[in-house]
Amino acid sequence: MVIVIGTGAGGALLARELAKDGKKVTILEKGPYIDSKEAFNYYDAYSDDVDLLTTTCIGGATIVSMSNMVRALDGELLDYGVDLTDAYEYVEELVGVHQLDDSHIGKGTQLFLDAGHELGLETMKMPKAIREDDCIQCGMCAFGCPVNAKWSGKDFADEAVEYGAELICDAEVIEILSEDGKACGVRYVKDQKEEIIESDTVVLSAGAIGSTMILRNSGIDEVGEEIFFDPFVTVGGYLKDINFNTEVQMAGLIIGKNFVLSPHFSSFIGQNIGDGVNDGDILSIMVKTPDDAKGYVYSDGNVIKTNTIQDIRYLAEGVATAGAVLEKAGVDPKTIGSTVYRGAHPGGTAPIGKIVDYNLETEISNLYVCDASVLPISPGKPPILTILALSKRLADYIKSK
Ligand SMILES: Cc1cc2nc3c(=O)[nH]c(=O)nc-3n(C[C@H](O)[C@H](O)[C@H](O)COP(=O)(O)OP(=O)(O)OC[C@H]3O[C@@H](n4cnc5c(N)ncnc54)[C@H](O)[C@@H]3O)c2cc1C
Repeated sequence: MVIVIGTGAGGALLARELAKDGKKVTILEKGPYIDSKEAFNYYDAYSDDVDLLTTTCIGGATIVSMSNMVRALDGELLDYGVDLTDAYEYVEELVGVHQLDDSHIGKGTQLFLDAGHELGLETMKMPKAIREDDCIQCGMCAFGCPVNAKWSGKDFADEAVEYGAELICDAEVIEILSEDGKACGVRYVKDQKEEIIESDTVVLSAGAIGSTMILRNSGIDEVGEEIFFDPFVTVGGYLKDINFNTEVQMAGLIIGKNFVLSPHFSSFIGQNIGDGVNDGDILSIMVKTPDDAKGYVYSDGNVIKTNTIQDIRYLAEGVATAGAVLEKAGVDPKTIGSTVYRGAHPGGTAPIGKIVDYNLETEISNLYVCDASVLPISPGKPPILTILALSKRLADYIKSK
């Protein structure tokens, strides 16, 4: 029997693949089973030391994601003997990665794409896993989807159940049990009652912060001593009647040397553009960079993250380029403002080569970690596809054992 902990990018596909293969699978998910349109209620709260976005519910952070799907860290993972080529092909087809049809590219996004091309920047439509037939182009992707038009881990958790897996929600895993250095079960809390399930194989996919806490409780201490989070800001300015806030978000992409840009509306930006500016009169761009893994996960789940001088350099390069794109797109440069510095891709807390080996196994045999924790460095771009490919690879390995 295999226990999978978490139903986000790392856990859901793994559970699906193993259940489909006829394995007995139990999935333990800390959060509730919800409809995707309710997901915005399940963002986690952190201390004021960091502006970090994660969620605890079925699907994890994938349910509030923009469903941006790009390959990342190929070369870096190959250095650890991890070749994801075949796994990428499999998961790209499974989640339906494609660039959106022009019918779903809004006016603001088109201005972003045109400006990027005119400036000679590497510019393209973002590869996504959104079903155009269902998408109502409301701009609410980060709230969860009101019409369930995006792929999320919830889809795979549901499929795993159809293939025979047991899904237990509202179940907070506390510790992995082991005997003679081998995983033998899991201790969790549900309805304020402690429960134990026995199993000889456990896959921990509770996300960079959740997995850190569980590993520490299980005797693996050197986790969470580093953390990256792919920092981002959203910069934008005044462009009358653009109504970009109701377009499909992040449907364009500019790839810079040390950053990526994507058209993105944030409800926090208006206040930094001008008094009384309407959301419909703003065009804005997310600037996202890789960051050094300088941070720490505390035992209560709070996080401290510092910025290195290189982090600031990358961000400055991206913001300068975003300013040029905005101006080219017709934004009044005197109005350009920014949100605060935030992160939505926490990872690197149990990195491959240090806490897990190239099969993602820990020092406790048959205890695997498969989520953003294992990424060796910050990708600086959307990590879901890479995590899905790692899950597919691990599922194949577990099936072969
Ligand atoms: C607003 C937003 C937009 C994003 N957009 C994109 C995007 O478009 N493309 C992209 O690639 N990335 C995007 N990301 C990032 C991406 O969603 C995450 O990097 C990815 O989901 C991380 O996968 P994971 O498996 O590590 O964690 P998660 O997907 O967060 O899954 C962790 C799971 O474990 C559960 N859990 C936690 N603790 C426990 C416990 N103790 N016991 C049991 N279960 C537990 C959680 O509830 C959750 O279900 C976005 C993130 C945010 C917040």
